[in-house]
Amino acid sequence: MLACVKTAMGKVEMLDLPVPKAGPGEIVIKTAMCTVCGSDMHFVDEIPNEMLTALGPGMLIPQGFPMGHEAVGSVHEVGPGVTRVQVGDRVISSCLVGCGHCVECLHGDYSVCTGGGHTLFGCQAEYFVVPWADVNVAKVPPEVSDENAILATDIMSTGFGAVDRAELKSGDSVAIFAQGPVGLCATAGARARGAGLIITVESIPERVEMSKKLGANVVINPKEKDPVSEIMNLTNLKGADVTIEAVGTQATFDGATRAVRRGGTVSSIGLYGPVPQLSMFTMTPAFYHRRIVTTLCPSGHDRMTHMLDILRWGKVDLSPLFTHRMKLADTPKAYELFRSKQEGVLKIAITP
Ligand SMILES: [Zn+2]
Ligand SMILES: [Zn+2]
Repeated sequence: MLACVKTAMGKVEMLDLPVPKAGPGEIVIKTAMCTVCGSDMHFVDEIPNEMLTALGPGMLIPQGFPMGHEAVGSVHEVGPGVTRVQVGDRVISSCLVGCGHCVECLHGDYSVCTGGGHTLFGCQAEYFVVPWADVNVAKVPPEVSDENAILATDIMSTGFGAVDRAELKSGDSVAIFAQGPVGLCATAGARARGAGLIITVESIPERVEMSKKLGANVVINPKEKDPVSEIMNLTNLKGADVTIEAVGTQATFDGATRAVRRGGTVSSIGLYGPVPQLSMFTMTPAFYHRRIVTTLCPSGHDRMTHMLDILRWGKVDLSPLFTHRMKLADTPKAYELFRSKQEGVLKIAITP
């Protein structure tokens, strides 16, 4: 089968690999649609293969690391012990798979599993394996499109997770720094949860447009105006009830910590790949008495089912995030396009 594999730092290639087999507790999914994600760029460009291997279950192929953690498909093979799904079911898996048995999993924090859980991998292929399938997989209702189902596996759950974990209340003001695919999902999540004023910070024109479409009342271009003073002005100099950092840079984290109101919540979902340590302004009124929460894609069967229910019952349609379509054989080109942020790219629907 055709699979996209990281063969060297900064490089992915299509290789011909054997179709995987389902071991105990595992299923094999036949991919209907997959995509590339910001995390893939971190994996390919910044993290050595040895470290990626450490994240995985130690069954990696010698040539490199099979890429992809966001996909939808149908169950092709069911391993011994799996009870929740059958061959032919249309399913998704969380992009972060948990073991279901460790202390973190028992708390429902599957994305930070310490029992061997890891980032799902190998979805940019004709078939891929999901371990601990009963814990991580959910059936996709027929009303949910492939595009929306894929988003539930990672960026929707992450973006909505930023809002959930900030405990945003109806009518709260929220400021979201960066409107890449994940930030846009946070915007949609804020609207779905009943935010009042939604302010976003973004300069790329297509992302500004999408931000408005998904719920932003005001979009601040950080190349033209200082986002923090603008957010202060828009909130009667109080600051936003909730600020969300959605890209993973020091500058946007600074903005989020300075633009939050006294007593408010800073919610961080960016992946700070190249930033080893964050610093924080303490000489601002907003430093004292506030909450800072970080979120790593909430995962697991129940979370996936909740995301799919939001989509199924039409509360949100995130399918406009798919700006491009490609064939699986062209996946390396999808990496180039996604990395370049050209052509207004947000998500790329990749089909076999
Ligand atoms: Zn992802
Ligand atoms: Zn676990």
